Amino acid sequence: MVKLTIDNRTVEVPEGTTILEAAKTAGIPVPTLCYLKDINEIGACRVCVVEIEGITRLVTACNNCVGEGMVIHTNSPKVRETRKTNVELILSQHDCSCPSCARSGNCNLQKIANDLGILEIPYDKKVSFTKWEKQFPLIRNYEKCIKCMRCIQVCDTVQSLNIWDIANTGSRTTVDVSKNRKITEADCALCGQCITHCPVGALRERDDTEKVFSALADPDKITVVQIAPAVRAAWGEPFGLEREFATVKRLVSAMRRMGFNYIFDTNFSADLTIMEEGSEFLKRLGNKDKETFPMFTSCCPGWVRFLKSQYPDMVPQLSTAKSPQQMFGAMAKSYYADLLGVDPENIFSVSVMPCLAKKHECDLPNMNDAGAGQDVDVVLTTREIDRMIRAEHIVPQELEEEEFDTPLGVGSGAGVIFGATGGVMEAALRSAYYLVTKTNPDPDAFKDVRGMDGWKEASFDLAGTPLKVAVVSGLGNTRRLIKALRKGKVSYDFVEVMACPGGCSGGGGQPINDGQELAGDRADVLYGLDKINEIRFSHENPSVQKCYECYLQRPLSHRSHELLHTDHNA
Ligand code: SF4
Repeated sequence: MVKLTIDNRTVEVPEGTTILEAAKTAGIPVPTLCYLKDINEIGACRVCVVEIEGITRLVTACNNCVGEGMVIHTNSPKVRETRKTNVELILSQHDCSCPSCARSGNCNLQKIANDLGILEIPYDKKVSFTKWEKQFPLIRNYEKCIKCMRCIQVCDTVQSLNIWDIANTGSRTTVDVSKNRKITEADCALCGQCITHCPVGALRERDDTEKVFSALADPDKITVVQIAPAVRAAWGEPFGLEREFATVKRLVSAMRRMGFNYIFDTNFSADLTIMEEGSEFLKRLGNKDKETFPMFTSCCPGWVRFLKSQYPDMVPQLSTAKSPQQMFGAMAKSYYADLLGVDPENIFSVSVMPCLAKKHECDLPNMNDAGAGQDVDVVLTTREIDRMIRAEHIVPQELEEEEFDTPLGVGSGAGVIFGATGGVMEAALRSAYYLVTKTNPDPDAFKDVRGMDGWKEASFDLAGTPLKVAVVSGLGNTRRLIKALRKGKVSYDFVEVMACPGGCSGGGGQPINDGQELAGDRADVLYGLDKINEIRFSHENPSVQKCYECYLQRPLSHRSHELLHTDHNA
């Protein structure tokens, strides 16, 4: 152990502890900007500088370790002055149009500048404006980039994609798409992790809220909206709501006030996905064709983009089932249009997702099977729906709970856990067991696939057939798994992949809580909702049963194939 003094407090920490961590254990906050624990500990921004008695120069707290007997000051006049200068220099290269920034009010740079009392910037502003492809779902504002390197590190070390890199030199240094590519030419999976790990507003999603406001104001449009499982665990965070209060029923209430005509639950189509994907899995398990086995889940469009760009020869192993978002869109403009007796062309289909990749997915040419344009017209992230709530002057604290509309608002507990890593696998196994044995397993029989580990394995007995499954989240883990599979070091029957670490609960469209990884907390909410749901199995969802009875006939039927499956190479 090492004993030292920080701000007149005696602290004892293990050898090798950074000054930042040591201060934290003593309850002393040191401001940071570029720091991301275990991912970016490079001291680039020099906001975390501290003074050590006996050493003339200041040192960065995030990447320097404590020493026996050190006396450290984290907020001395010299520290404050240096920190202020460092932040002023950062601001001199930053477009400070805070009112029009997606991160206004949720920006660490803004907070630090305010805390330091910076009221003007005493340096010449050198902000260059570079063009970006504004139709792409991911937007980079070069003029807001503070070169903290977080996006480079997250994309490289966590997601293994290396989309970003340093470009230019000297005062023209910036971060840009690597290898001189345009973003549309790079292999970006659109997981959005660079956005959620950016401390400022240099990265954001394409804003589609105006398209939805216009549709809501159009009397000829019937607006149908679906809410994804993971959104319910996170939408209330920016409003400071307790998780128990920020229920999906209060989100339904907010959206009804906005004027949506029909508010439905993606859990319904998650249950449909299980019926289709589970049946497909049992079919593939029967013949174990080399081309298509082991089967990969296909509900994460970030993962599908990754596989298509990195390992195109393995695309046939993807389940042909569409994602729950796209299944819902196809059903809204076919089955539900029939139920309403309306022309599907009049339906404007919106989805609220924790995801960036789904903004791209809804635009794909193979996602318009209901015959009325795109099956999903607009995808909003959780952050965008939160912005719409604010724009509508809705006070979330005053909302009462309201029910989803029926029948597409009915979902099972198996559907809700789609929002967490391992959830799709668990839901699929619950129903696969039923499809084979005609009896339900214990709903928690497959809980070994839960948890935040990036690569999980489990073995089960499916009515006499041994099954080996894997669940992976984060594209770096995914690449490791695929390499191991290709080398024959591991073998599985069924693999669930989610592009975002922790699955959709940690999705790139979720609220940003700088420096905090909340995927695990949000997943706990989803597992809690599964536990108290009266329906724990997708095959017991009465709306899904009715839909098969009256419309689709059975899983993998001709109509199911037309509406709910796709050729991922199309
Ligand atoms: Fe989207 Fe979820 Fe995939 Fe992330 S894990 S890319 S949020 S579907």
